[in-house]
Amino acid sequence: MTKISIDVRAVEQDRQTALQLLHHRILTCRSCEEQGYIKTARPLVNGRASDRIMVIGQAPGHRSVAKGRSFSGPGGSMLQKWLEQAGFPPGYLHAHVYLSSLTRCDPGRNPRGDGDRRPSPSEVTLCRPYLEAELAILQPEVVLLVGAMAIEAFLGKRKLEECIGAFEESNGALLLPLPHPSGVSRWLLDPAHQQLLHQALAILSQWRENLGL
Ligand code: SF4
Repeated sequence: MTKISIDVRAVEQDRQTALQLLHHRILTCRSCEEQGYIKTARPLVNGRASDRIMVIGQAPGHRSVAKGRSFSGPGGSMLQKWLEQAGFPPGYLHAHVYLSSLTRCDPGRNPRGDGDRRPSPSEVTLCRPYLEAELAILQPEVVLLVGAMAIEAFLGKRKLEECIGAFEESNGALLLPLPHPSGVSRWLLDPAHQQLLHQALAILSQWRENLGL
């Protein structure tokens, strides 16, 4: 049998270079602004080529854009808390998790003015190639699908109670659906839904142990 030797450091370097180039493309993208979906495009990118867990959320909020860091608002604090419940240390979310989303720019407030606007299907379609490129470069072992929009984008339309607490595998990645961690979501007020979240975090804890995350 022919022995194939792989220069792991060279592969890692290639991934890092590919990710830097991709980040540059994302950061300079103005497609949604040019097409009139948002007033000002200020894309966010967060993460390293070596990250083994990727979070895919809906879109950055205004706090994250202001700080230049994804999941900088209450949703990020809650997500970090959930990671700690699964056995990860404090600070893990921003230090070791690749933070991505369906769109990279803040869609702004919804027309009622009481929350963030959901990005339109057209905006999601415009931004999707960046997400696909990130997945191809990183090849994450674990993908946390945060919120109904991200879950639908990867697993199809389904109720949260039908998918939280379970997982799927796709292209070598373990996909774990989670509810949106922002306080706006009322889904978690139901004790039965809290139990489903507990189940999901138990799965994540098991992966942390088994995969050495
Ligand atoms: S949301 Fe995505 S596609 Fe739209 S302007 Fe921002 S980076 Fe570009």
